[in-house]
Amino acid sequence: MGLFDKKYCDICGSKIGLLGNKKLENGNMCKDCQRLLSPWFSERRHSTVEEIKTQLAYREANKEKVAAFNPTKIFGNQTKLLVDEGKGQFLVSRSSNWQNENPDVLTLAMLKGYDAAIKQDKDELKTKDGEGKSVSYDPPRFEYEYEFKLNLHVEHPYFEEMRFEPFREVEEESVAVNGRPAVVHGEAYQETKNAFDALRQFLEGFCPCLSLEEPKEEAVADLSPLPAASAAPAAPATPAAENIPGRFEFPALPETVSQLLTLPGVSFHNPFSVAAMAVAAFCRFPADPEGCFAMIDTLKGPQPLSPMDKSFIKDRFMDGKDYVPRSYFEGAVPENDYTPDQPYAIRILESAHSRDQFDQGYITLYIKSGGADSERPVTLRHKPSTDEWFLWNHVGLLAGIRIPKSADPWA
Ligand SMILES: [Zn+2]
Repeated sequence: MGLFDKKYCDICGSKIGLLGNKKLENGNMCKDCQRLLSPWFSERRHSTVEEIKTQLAYREANKEKVAAFNPTKIFGNQTKLLVDEGKGQFLVSRSSNWQNENPDVLTLAMLKGYDAAIKQDKDELKTKDGEGKSVSYDPPRFEYEYEFKLNLHVEHPYFEEMRFEPFREVEEESVAVNGRPAVVHGEAYQETKNAFDALRQFLEGFCPCLSLEEPKEEAVADLSPLPAASAAPAAPATPAAENIPGRFEFPALPETVSQLLTLPGVSFHNPFSVAAMAVAAFCRFPADPEGCFAMIDTLKGPQPLSPMDKSFIKDRFMDGKDYVPRSYFEGAVPENDYTPDQPYAIRILESAHSRDQFDQGYITLYIKSGGADSERPVTLRHKPSTDEWFLWNHVGLLAGIRIPKSADPWA
């Protein structure tokens, strides 16, 4: 057995050229056969001939799914995520000719979580002085590069992760603000960021965000104050509770749209109160799903719930999980089966990132649940013509929390 012995592919039987061998755990494979494997598959060396043959049969059957795939939503301008909402399927492909590339077709139920990152890379731009030496500008100037990365964690027989960059990189230069270099995002960045957020919002209908990395250096934002409750509730040493902006007290939870709109202290001009109304409205779901949807539709204003939004909400309340919305009211903890204090009191918080997209008309506020360690986000969108705020993304409000004591067999 010499170094140059000819090898044969254990999959298709053809002769393997010099350097063309792809080793398997118990055999060899040719380049042509390797090309037929899933592009997300990385365990080739640890796979047996039999396992590879099984995968190639799956890959062959996948072609029929690709042929029947009818994209109704497409995310990205580089490696794209295509969704067939009718079939509840998705695929990821960089090729505009994806129909001929046999991309793996997955069901949306296979999504287990995702990591999202906007990576910021910074380089100083230099100029030359009188002697031709490279020197900093005054004030210094920097070039920034942003990469938008996504990693889908999936439950699939042949791979666990799908890492890709749905959007092309964006490059920007710093600008001088008050004699100092500052990041001010241009249109290209904002458009990509908004599209990335829309993709994340879509994913959150199916799986949780496991990690989120955002640019280290934040943009200088020119924030005009909010019409009401603009003082951030910074939670200092316990002032009188009723004086905390963003804190609302409701004598009872609303059962109808008119009760919702007449809760004390609420107004569509105040995004904090719209967030509080959303929590109150979701509490209605277990007793009256349609009544709940009517209230949420009112809060969503120009963009009511889609059938997909509704089925997502129904899913979140399945298996007796009726306690999530009421966990946001003061006093509700797992130990008392999430029974809020009376009257119902809720605090809506603002964070350092709340106004990251304020100039585009969005604000993300946070609410502490008695059954979770981190605050849950809710995004509101501004309608300039009426200066009103409407519920934009409620998905975070319905995320799972600790089960109540009475439902915990190990309590
Ligand atoms: Zn082969």
